[in-house]
Order: sequence, then structure tokens, then C-alpha cells
Amino acid sequence: MYNPELSNMSEELIELWDDCMCFPNLLVRLKRHRSITLTFLDENWEPQTWNLKDDLSELIQHEYDHLEGILATQRAIDDKSFKWRA
Ligand SMILES: [Zn+2]
Repeated sequence: MYNPELSNMSEELIELWDDCMCFPNLLVRLKRHRSITLTFLDENWEPQTWNLKDDLSELIQHEYDHLEGILATQRAIDDKSFKWRA
């Protein structure tokens, strides 16, 4: 995915325990938009538009945050939003 852009972020949010290979075994409670639109250029430089919801929406928001230098820990809902994976 080249030059990904997110748009049409739903007002509706979902709350979840997120994880990340940057901090194995740590889970972070946060909120993400339930649905988004992802536009990007594919490996053939063809524009693509994907409408995503739930798991894929959440995943792409997580990965897009990495491009912006934002980690899931920065989106924690509060100071009780951290736990170690059981
Ligand atoms: Zn990550």
C-alpha cells in the first residue's frame, strides 16, 4: 500500500484491547472508529479504495498510526487501560 489515506471515519467508535509487536504481551484499552475508507496505490500504482469496518478498520488505524509515529499506548483510554496478556 503506497500513500495510504484514511477518510470517512465513522462517528461510531469501538472499544477494544489492542496489542502491538512493539511491546509484546502488553494490552492497551482504546477506541477506534468502527468504519473507515482507505485509499492507496497498489503495487501497480493503481488507485484502490477499500471500505473497512470492525477488525480490518481497527487494524488499518493501528498501522496508519505507526506511519504517523503514534503508538497504541498513546491512545489508552485512561491509566487503567493497560494489562499484561494472560
Ligand atoms: Zn503496532
